[in-house]
Amino acid sequence: MDFVEDCLFCKIAAGQLPSKILYQDQDIVAFADIHPQAQHHVLIIPRRHISSMADLTIEEGPLLTQIFVTAQQIAQDLNIDQTGYRMVTNAGPHSGQAVFHLHFHLLGGEQLGSFGRAGR
Ligand code: 5GP
Ligand code: ZN
Repeated sequence: MDFVEDCLFCKIAAGQLPSKILYQDQDIVAFADIHPQAQHHVLIIPRRHISSMADLTIEEGPLLTQIFVTAQQIAQDLNIDQTGYRMVTNAGPHSGQAVFHLHFHLLGGEQLGSFGRAGR
C-alpha cells in the first residue's frame, strides 16, 4: 500500500497537509510534531504507508536503516547529537498509538524522563 486516503501522515508526506518539514527524500519525510513532548520532537516516517512496526517485514530492513541514519543527521542539524536523543515507535492500544502510519519519535534537547508504565 502506498497512499491511504484517510491517513494523516500519508497526506503530510504528499504535501496535502501543512507541516514543518526538516528533511525529505524519495523514501522518508521528517517533520516537527504538532504537540512537542520535548524541546525537539521530530516525527520520521516512510512515505509508503505501513501501519506500524507490527507490519514490518525483513524487506524493510534497508528502509529502517535509512530512517535511523536520517535520525543521526537530524540530531546533528539540531545540535543534539552530543547531548543525546531518543527514538520511540508505538504499536497498538497499550502503546497509545494514535496515528496508524509508521512513525518514529525523535526526542531530545533536554533531559528526558524514564519510560514504561503510565504515570511512573
Ligand atoms: P503516536 O501516539 O501515534 O505514536 O503519535 C502520533 C503523534 O503525531 C503525536 O505525537 C501527535 O502530536 C502527532 N500529530 C498528530 N497529528 C498531527 C499533525 O497533524 N501534524 C503533526 N505535525 N503532528 C501530528
Ligand atoms: Zn499513511
